[in-house]
Amino acid sequence: MFDYRHIITQNITPSWLPDTIQAAMLRLDLLHPEVSGNKWFKLRHNLEAAGKRTILTFGGAWSNHIAATAAACRLLGRSCIGIIRGEAAPVLSPTLQKAMADGMQLHFVSREAYRLKEVPAWATDAYVIPEGGHNALGAKGCEGILPLVQGRFTHICCAVGTGTTLAGLINSATTQEVRGYSVLKGAGYLENEIAMLLHPHITCRWQLLHDFHFGGYAKTTPVLLDFIKEFYRETQIPLDRVYTAKLVAGFRQQLQTGQFPEGSRVLLIHTGGLQGEP
Ligand SMILES: *Cc1c(COP(=O)(O)O)cnc(C)c1O
Repeated sequence: MFDYRHIITQNITPSWLPDTIQAAMLRLDLLHPEVSGNKWFKLRHNLEAAGKRTILTFGGAWSNHIAATAAACRLLGRSCIGIIRGEAAPVLSPTLQKAMADGMQLHFVSREAYRLKEVPAWATDAYVIPEGGHNALGAKGCEGILPLVQGRFTHICCAVGTGTTLAGLINSATTQEVRGYSVLKGAGYLENEIAMLLHPHITCRWQLLHDFHFGGYAKTTPVLLDFIKEFYRETQIPLDRVYTAKLVAGFRQQLQTGQFPEGSRVLLIHTGGLQGEP
């Protein structure tokens, strides 16, 4: 169903890249048009563990995780329930319309109720995947990402929401240094959340960067939007504004402040996220 050969390692040479640094992008966004990026890796072992049970998960109206779960369940012939944050808008977001068309049963709860992440009494038989696919099986699936990379790198860089993907990268990295670019503002709790998903004897160095959220989750700036356009012009690679644009813009800023030594070979993970964009 998913052909990992679609995932290529693409060298990039945007105008701002110094001659002394090499960069490439791992195109997880090319895996599948509907189950794109890192989401499939977080889902795969969870879907296996669920067996034939209905899948139940959580997300907001624009959630890439909801979109990927609904599409994956349709492709696998599984039933699924989405607990959606906030009251249903009169016109559903494109993400939710597509999820419904994929067969996901949507259940809207207030923001307060959503915070509790309760499973409704009528759905207690379901297999629960946490919001964002954030669990140990999710991280385990993301250990399958680095084996797909062509070439050798000194640094691996990835956008961070829940940190599940980053944990899988750290668990499977050997000599590379792993850097996570948080898209959330003031997410000091993330280090712990990530540490809880790590194997006891990891060998790689890793760090989480908190200065590249551009105002906070799903916030954007004109500079960031221009950056997306410019990057597309120079590389033909589309970036989403919530995650991957902040990763690449953060990488650029780190280059400018000398945070990568000369001779670094940097792999940026394109985690997808292009569904639901206007
Ligand atoms: C969900 C998502 C992330 C965040 O992944 P986590 O494992 O939650 O850190 C990053 N990039 C894109 C495009 C996403 O959709």
